[in-house]
Amino acid sequence: MSRFFSEKYSALVPYVPGEQPQNRKYNKLNTNESPFPPSPYALKLGREAAGDCQLYSDPDCRQLRAVASEKLGVGENEIVFVNGSDEILNFAFMAFCDKDHPAIFPNISYGFYPVFAQINNVPYREIPLREDLTVNVDDYIGVEGNVFIANPNAPTGIALPLSDIERIVAGNLDRVVVVDEAYVDFGAESAVCLVKKYDNLLVTQTFSKSRSLAGARLGFGIGNEKLIADINTIRFSTNPYNINKVTEKMGIGALCDEDYFRANCETIIKTREYTAEKLKSLGFEMTDSKANFLFAKHKKAKGGDIYVEVKERGVLVRHFGKPLIDDYLRITIGSREQMDALIAELEKIL
Ligand code: PMP
Repeated sequence: MSRFFSEKYSALVPYVPGEQPQNRKYNKLNTNESPFPPSPYALKLGREAAGDCQLYSDPDCRQLRAVASEKLGVGENEIVFVNGSDEILNFAFMAFCDKDHPAIFPNISYGFYPVFAQINNVPYREIPLREDLTVNVDDYIGVEGNVFIANPNAPTGIALPLSDIERIVAGNLDRVVVVDEAYVDFGAESAVCLVKKYDNLLVTQTFSKSRSLAGARLGFGIGNEKLIADINTIRFSTNPYNINKVTEKMGIGALCDEDYFRANCETIIKTREYTAEKLKSLGFEMTDSKANFLFAKHKKAKGGDIYVEVKERGVLVRHFGKPLIDDYLRITIGSREQMDALIAELEKIL
């Protein structure tokens, strides 16, 4: 820390992203990226847009919003695009939370929530998951602050049915409920259909997983027009050009290439079920993941030990080293070949 760093941030513990090693080519199953390249149409539009980068991008993302509105069935003023969904999660903490409106989220969930709370000086309460790592919906009814809930949850992968999400939204009509649907396309139910009914619901999604654009940084939020206007007030006060020209066009391409998107999601789901069976036969237990990863622990071997052993053999998975989940590994679903390579290494180790 330099002697100039503001005291207000001196205790801040930054979020630690999954490793992105450059030194060696790993079988990378640690950050839930897609094993498939961006859609060919997204690539074509992105390449064309690169030639116009002497100009600023459109701060209103009008073309992308028009396409998204049609494809996702929401009004153009009910959607806002952001530089990865992390950005809108931060904006939501900035826009809706303060000392009188604390944040509430599960004790095991996306590791960025407590960081966003800290950087924005927002008090927060973490609600423990049940022992089986599920969310007890009753704990989230009539709570004292804004709710942040990932569905499916991360890193457990466990999804709540839409009826439970609606119970949380309806149970906190004077609070904002942010439903983080980063992984929804791999088998969970989206709450987007509820935004016209509830003005306190903000749904966030990303192009990083199911649409193969993690490196382009594109996410979005869907909610009541007034909530979206608030997010835009924050966005225009921080970085109105948050979506660059290439990314906006790639987003349009990805949304238009629906067959590619659907086929990839189906393949991931099939590969997830295939991998789960293989892991079971090796002595792993798993949550019922509806995401593009499995959350697995071995009956005998320690999570931290397996993480180190497979890394030495060129396979990267995620180990959180946190109480309650210390023995778990979060394993991204890659291609069938990537998963077979992991299984082969695990067979040797175990
Ligand atoms: N929410 C959850 C639960 C996540 O795991 C991630 C990915 N790290 C994000 C949001 C943010 O993803 P992105 O910023 O790439 O859209």
